[in-house]
Amino acid sequence: MSLKGKSALVTGSTSGIGLGLAVAFAKQGANLTLNGFGDRKQIDELVSSLAKEHGVKVAYSAADMSKPAEIRQMVREHEDRYGAVDILVNNAGIQHVSPVDEFPDEKWDAILAINLSSNFHAIKAALPKMKTQPWARIINLASVHGVVASPFKSAYVAAKNGVLGLTKTVALELADTNITCNAICPGYVKTPLVEKQIDQQAEAHKIPRDRVIREVILASQPKKEFVEIEGLGDLAVFLCSPGAKAVTGANFNLDGGWTAR
Ligand code: NAD
Repeated sequence: MSLKGKSALVTGSTSGIGLGLAVAFAKQGANLTLNGFGDRKQIDELVSSLAKEHGVKVAYSAADMSKPAEIRQMVREHEDRYGAVDILVNNAGIQHVSPVDEFPDEKWDAILAINLSSNFHAIKAALPKMKTQPWARIINLASVHGVVASPFKSAYVAAKNGVLGLTKTVALELADTNITCNAICPGYVKTPLVEKQIDQQAEAHKIPRDRVIREVILASQPKKEFVEIEGLGDLAVFLCSPGAKAVTGANFNLDGGWTAR
C-alpha cells in the first residue's frame, strides 16, 4: 500500500508510540509533521534522518497539546505546508497515578487537556480542510483504559473513556464523507511513559524491575509480554488502506488478552 502524496500529523511523536506510527506512515511514503517535547537538537536529527531514510518531507511543531491556540496553529502550519491534514493521529498523552481523593487538581486538568481535549481541538481545527479532500483518516490513541479501569488512574481512565466517546461521535457525524475516525486501544507498550511507571512501582513495592514487569505491570495482560509498537503501526496503516474503508467508529484492542477477561 502506498501513502505517497498524503500527509500525516501525529501528535506526541517525538517518542514512543507516536514516533512508531510516524515511522510506519513514512515507510508508506507519507509526508509528516512530528510534534512533542524533547531535546531540540535530537528532534532536528530525527526530522532529518526520517526524511532522508524514507524520502519524505518531515516537519516539526513544538505545539503544547494542553493549549488549544497552539493546536490550531500546528494544524494551520501543516495545512500551509501540505495542503490539508490527510491523516490525523491524536496520540500525545501523559499519566499520573494517585488515589482519587489525593489526586492533584492540576494533574487532573493536565491529563484531561492533553489526553482528551487536544483530540477535540485538533479534529475541530483539521476538519474544514479535510472535508474538501477526497479522503482523510482520524486515528485516536485511546488505551485499554478506555475500555476497563484500574485503580489510581482516575484522570487517565476518564480521559481515555472520553476519547472513545469522541471517536464514535465524530465517526457518526462523518459517516457520509470519506473520512473515518477510529481508536486504537493498546495494553502495555514499553515506552518512556511505561518505563517511568516501572521505576515508580519498583520503588513503591521494593522489588526489582523484572518482578514489577511480570507481577505488577503485566498482571492484567494474559500474554505477559508488552504490545509491540510495530503492531500498532501496522494497524494504523491498515486503517489507511482501501480495505478499511468501512471501518469507522471502532476501537481496536491490542492488549494481549486484557479485555477478554
Ligand atoms: P511517551 O511518553 O513515550 O510519548 C508521549 C509523547 O507525547 C511524547 O512525544 C511527548 O513529548 C508528547 N507529549 C506529552 N505531553 C505533551 C504536550 N503537552 N504537548 C505535546 N506533546 C506532548 O508515551 P507513549 O507510551 O508513547 O504514549 C502515547 C499514547 O499512547 C498516549 O496517549 C498514551 O496514553 C497511549 N497509550 C500508551 C500505552 C503504553 O503502554 N505505553 C498504553 C495505552 C495507551
